[in-house]
Amino acid sequence: MVFDVFQNKDLVNLKQRVSEAFADIRHRYASLRANEIPKAAFEEIQAALANVGFFGCLIPEEYGGTNRGLLTSTVIMEELAAQGLQSFGPVLNSMAAAGIARFGAETVKRDILPPLARGELKFAIASTETEAGFNVFNVKTYAERSRDRFIVNGSKIYISGIDVADSILVIARTMTREECDRRGLSKTAGISVLLVDPQSEGIERTPLPSHGEGVLTQFSLKLKDVSVPIGHILGDEDHGARVMFRMFNPERTLAAAMGLGMSRYCLDLACEHARNRKVFQETPIGTYQSIQHPLADLAIRQEAVRLMIHRSAWCFDTDVDPNDVASSANAAKYLAAGLAVQAVDAAINTFGGKGFDEEKGIIHLWEAARLLKTAPISDALILNQIAEYVLKLPRSY
Ligand SMILES: Cc1cc2nc3c(=O)[nH]c(=O)nc-3n(C[C@H](O)[C@H](O)[C@H](O)COP(=O)(O)OP(=O)(O)OC[C@H]3O[C@@H](n4cnc5c(N)ncnc54)[C@H](O)[C@@H]3O)c2cc1C
Repeated sequence: MVFDVFQNKDLVNLKQRVSEAFADIRHRYASLRANEIPKAAFEEIQAALANVGFFGCLIPEEYGGTNRGLLTSTVIMEELAAQGLQSFGPVLNSMAAAGIARFGAETVKRDILPPLARGELKFAIASTETEAGFNVFNVKTYAERSRDRFIVNGSKIYISGIDVADSILVIARTMTREECDRRGLSKTAGISVLLVDPQSEGIERTPLPSHGEGVLTQFSLKLKDVSVPIGHILGDEDHGARVMFRMFNPERTLAAAMGLGMSRYCLDLACEHARNRKVFQETPIGTYQSIQHPLADLAIRQEAVRLMIHRSAWCFDTDVDPNDVASSANAAKYLAAGLAVQAVDAAINTFGGKGFDEEKGIIHLWEAARLLKTAPISDALILNQIAEYVLKLPRSY
């Protein structure tokens, strides 16, 4: 398998087909403001993604998927974002597919994977808690075994898309941190990943006024005695860290593809404007190096970031050690988030005052691009992982 799509005819054809399908959606909603389009076209985008096989990429054929892999998913995600239609929704579904296909019980796989591959289900991932923040192993949400069920209590914050989700993957403790310490177990022990029905009794959700994800709303969640069938656990009880890492690598790689696509969207708009806008005599502003160099710089970086993304996806698809995939996925996400912010800045530079005009469809991307430097994992946490795992430097925290 090669990780450069440009050497793979199938992927080049897919990229073309996908690009046309998303451009078509974008044009049909052209009367709306740019920031309103992804939300308004939500169901249509979901259908288009299903149509090109996005949701089946990480699902084996025997469960209705295509098993085409994360590399294919990144190609599709980049094209989606290159049309300004990005959202974390498809990323959440890919995380769920990766986790369930590898760690779900047979009945769960048979029930969930075929409709997930067809794009008929939507997933949310509930990891973050107010106190724990980025320290996911510090979550306090607790799932207690009671015969054939888990009874879940706790709270979560910033959870995207609960209102549209058919299922939530909840990260909970099934053994407290204190108990793990007492038994001499590592901090990654005692975590479990549960599939929870968002309509379950005992779940209370409150929408949050957060910005950045233009399509999905974030919620705080309270879980009070929520009953979950025992078979709805992914992997073994107390060993959910492996499941999480299986899901985090595609999440970061696809977030990177989203950032790359957003940077292309900005670059396309900026170049078009730079070719046509004349301020002094008949000289287009794109002639000036203050305008063209930042754009040329972006074009170079896009190529490099794409290679990094494809490498990360290729590592995932070929079952490289998840720790090594994490380094690639983190590096790709780190570079892509920086690229997305840089691209929005360069587009604003090109458009001048119009860069701040909602009608131009750039300024709202500032929040979306900046979000990528914080979620799903922050730049600082990525640098920590690279310093510790790749450079073998002492852990700072
Ligand atoms: C729009 C949006 C959507 C989201 N969707 C979801 C979702 O669907 N599901 C979900 O579970 N979560 C979601 N999140 C949460 C997100 O992924 C982050 O995990 C969360 O915001 C981090 O928690 P915190 O705000 O408490 O940050 P904190 O953990 O308090 O971190 C604050 C700052 O301190 C830095 N920091 C912390 N520890 C270290 C360290 N050891 N070294 C260096 N720097 C450090 C961080 O990098 C950060 O800059 C979402 C967040 C947003 C904003």
